[in-house]
Amino acid sequence: MFSSDHCPFRYDESGKLAPRGRTSFRWVPNGIPGIETRLPILFSEGVSNGRIDLNRFVALSATNHAKTYGLYPRKGTIAVGSDADIAIWDPKREVTMSQQILHHGAIAALSQEQADEHFLRRSFDVARRALTHGNHPFGAILVDHDRRVLLEVENGFMPPRDGTAHAERLLATQACVTLPAGVLRQATLYSSAEPCAMCAGAIYWAGIGRVVYGLSEHALRELTGDHPENPTLNLPCREVFGSGQRPTEIVGPLLETEAAALHQDVWQRNRTSEA
Ligand SMILES: [Zn+2]
Repeated sequence: MFSSDHCPFRYDESGKLAPRGRTSFRWVPNGIPGIETRLPILFSEGVSNGRIDLNRFVALSATNHAKTYGLYPRKGTIAVGSDADIAIWDPKREVTMSQQILHHGAIAALSQEQADEHFLRRSFDVARRALTHGNHPFGAILVDHDRRVLLEVENGFMPPRDGTAHAERLLATQACVTLPAGVLRQATLYSSAEPCAMCAGAIYWAGIGRVVYGLSEHALRELTGDHPENPTLNLPCREVFGSGQRPTEIVGPLLETEAAALHQDVWQRNRTSEA
């Protein structure tokens, strides 16, 4: 059976409505792997194994859809006046499918760079939450060696007006009193903005081995100016970490435009009202 849905089950009691599917994950009617493997599987099982011919393959994967949606012959055929996309197919190519080569792959399959962006964006989410909770838009998360999120901490300025309650400082304190040193050594702290001198010190003293940050301290300083609630320092965290006796790996600034967007309209408003 080949279907426009990559989970082609009958919509009846023998398929998607199977009562057992509601009782256990084991019985969920899963289909073939994601959309990117649909054409290779159809080609491999269909054309290569002699079940359908090449024309049928093209009809099932392109022409029929163009006709169904009223786009034929502009789409779905290679002809003068048509503007269909063309796929070059190598019928002899053999690929062993694995999680590592699939685009929908799990976190474990991501490259280090992809994983860093993924988790950094998650720290941005935490920063956004901090803002909705009436705090400054800063967030930090801690991710272990196996890419599991261990801690998520928002900026904690309010309600006590605690100027030392930066997200990374709070996280570092929480981390070193709850997690083993070996875990922290191999963990990465993702922060929506570059750790200030206080936070870099706290991360160092907590023994967290790696830091990835979004917005640079320099760019943050441009945004906040001398705002009374955030008179940003002018000290790169690499200087603090570089003065330590154990190495800390630093990555950043990263995704800085997205990181800066978290601060849009936040500091301007207060600065003019309190200036
Ligand atoms: Zn800080």
